[in-house]
Amino acid sequence: MSLKKIGVVGAGTMGNGITQAFAVAGFDVVMMDVAKAAVQRGMATLTASLDRLIKKEKMTAEQKAEALARVATASDVGALADCDLVIEAATENLELKLKIFAQLDAMVKADAVLASNTSSISITKLAASTKRADKVVGMHFFNPVPMMALVELIRGLQTSDATYAAVEAVAQAIGKTPVQVRNSPGFVVNRLLCPMINEAIFALGEGLATAAEIDEAMKLGCNHPIGPLALADMIGLDVELAVMQVLFEGFKDPKYRPAPLLVEMVEAGYLGRKSGKGFYEYK
Ligand code: NAD
Repeated sequence: MSLKKIGVVGAGTMGNGITQAFAVAGFDVVMMDVAKAAVQRGMATLTASLDRLIKKEKMTAEQKAEALARVATASDVGALADCDLVIEAATENLELKLKIFAQLDAMVKADAVLASNTSSISITKLAASTKRADKVVGMHFFNPVPMMALVELIRGLQTSDATYAAVEAVAQAIGKTPVQVRNSPGFVVNRLLCPMINEAIFALGEGLATAAEIDEAMKLGCNHPIGPLALADMIGLDVELAVMQVLFEGFKDPKYRPAPLLVEMVEAGYLGRKSGKGFYEYK
């Protein structure tokens, strides 16, 4: 199974990053989004990102032109009909993703692979909603996609060895390092990272130390490049809370209960960098 033509559903933060990673590596990509404005924003972000690479002398103007020439855009899912691999990176919502998977399943080639970049939805459940459950897989990229080396490749209960081998090869072809993960709430990275951040918020709420002290302790004591509370502000406190809720619901284990201070900050609209205030203030 060789995956040559790539479709990307969603042109947002992740969709345009995934499109860039494939186009730069020499793949033809169709980036599709229902919102025409999102397609335009996605292309503008992608172009600006390539310009930064030129500035850093990591890419030539000619390579930029070649990469852009490999990207087609669309606002209709029908444009993805002849893709070998379609990566869904639309808004995180189960009903929406089930609808998109049904549309794709009915329309793309019988042997095409369908992947989802979901952070929290069960790949097994998405696969079961299609007539090609063995050809459904999770490809969980990290933000910003062009910079981050990891892609978690999530195997649903039904994912075949041939499908896994094909997406592993394609992940390596775009210079990513794949890690194979069995379908499970939070996969590996969010399963470990988000409870650590949640525990830092418990420590802050219990008055163990200030936010700056907790971050300083983790940077100097564990060699972390950024403290957990500053990282929470970057990720978005609403996103952190959503992941904790997925872990809590998924495992029914109280060790994943969201910290009360996290819940209250989200209620207050203190979401971190994107709202100007989280554990720190941003101008
Ligand atoms: P985003 O809001 O930036 O982009 C989502 C895009 O999907 C929007 O442009 C929206 O118009 C589009 N969309 C909605 N319905 C659609 C449809 N029916 N067909 C096509 N496009 C549609 O979101 P994002 O941050 O890029 O997240 C996308 C996915 O990636 C989510 O599943 C999220 O959980 C996952 N993810 C996000 C991150 C992150 O750091 N942002 C990291 C890993 C995974």
